[in-house]
Amino acid sequence: MASFKFCKVKQNLIILLSSIFLFSCSSEKISNTSNEIKETFKWRMVTTWPKNYPGVGLGAENLAKLVNEMSDGRLQIKVFGNGELVPALEVFDTVSRGSVEMGHGAAYYWIGKVPAAQFFTAIPFGLNAQEMNAWLHYGGGQELWEELYEPFNLIPMAGGNTGVQMAGWFNKEINSLNDLKGIRMRIPGMAGEVFTRAGGEAVLMPGSEIFTNLQTGVIDAAEWIGPYNDLTFGFHQAAKYYYYPGWHEPGPTLETLVNKEAFNSLPKDLQVILVTASRAVNQDMLDEYTARNNQALISLINDHGIELRKLPDDVLAEFKKITDELLLEMIEKDDASRKIYKSLSEFQKNVSDYHEISEKALYDLR
Ligand code: CA
Repeated sequence: MASFKFCKVKQNLIILLSSIFLFSCSSEKISNTSNEIKETFKWRMVTTWPKNYPGVGLGAENLAKLVNEMSDGRLQIKVFGNGELVPALEVFDTVSRGSVEMGHGAAYYWIGKVPAAQFFTAIPFGLNAQEMNAWLHYGGGQELWEELYEPFNLIPMAGGNTGVQMAGWFNKEINSLNDLKGIRMRIPGMAGEVFTRAGGEAVLMPGSEIFTNLQTGVIDAAEWIGPYNDLTFGFHQAAKYYYYPGWHEPGPTLETLVNKEAFNSLPKDLQVILVTASRAVNQDMLDEYTARNNQALISLINDHGIELRKLPDDVLAEFKKITDELLLEMIEKDDASRKIYKSLSEFQKNVSDYHEISEKALYDLR
């Protein structure tokens, strides 16, 4: 909080000096110009992404740029990539403490500290992007998210979405549940636990280490995001089979984090700009992924000769069964998870029924 307070003191001093200067002018000038003198805020945003990484990382950059332009430079946000100021997994604590004002990442990175945070990114077989946005913004999800982060002095907002991801890259074909045995796969979070219980072995590692580990055989499989990002990492040079569907991350929401005191220190118009910009970036990222993923998939198939495969039905059925068991275990031990899952699962039931006769019926028709 120290640097933030220092900034404020400096800004207050500038305003005070400006006021003294104005008092020496005519009263008319005071009324004409006083409205123009508005405090400028210089903030920092730490992120979990490599600096300027396409899609997710540029989402954070876009947010800062948009806020700067919308506020006419009154709220300036400097963006830091993973490790530039703090490592990816320290983003939550850093913003919570107020050492920096903002963060950008994904809520399920914090499940060690807040297990129920998982629900605000994605759960296996859960909501897609459109449904996540609907639950958060019109289904009570945002209020539950704010309540969950309240003890940490943090205000969360949706800050991007990749859409349905891919199941991942495999060096071996998966033709049945039996083929999962002994497969070491980079797959994080709750999905990793599902994969391990289904007979495989989940391994954790940051995105930047996946390629080498896949190429050298340290792991046999890996999930990352989808065709657009996977192509930029070159995973097609390390594994042959590209599996769908992204059962584990059906519409992962990224997260904009704001320190509560920093947020409350902003005048109302800058608060609205920040919230609106995050909402815009949340949608913009999905638009970008929707446009670029299918182009990248065409390139992966036509230019790079990858083999596109669907995970077998028995594998997906087993993943679903284990996911349901895990969710039950989770809501038994954690009150917040129980409350949030109740809201989310009821929403999912109703929206699925509607999407069966709307979105899905349309897909089947085309
Ligand atoms: Ca992923």
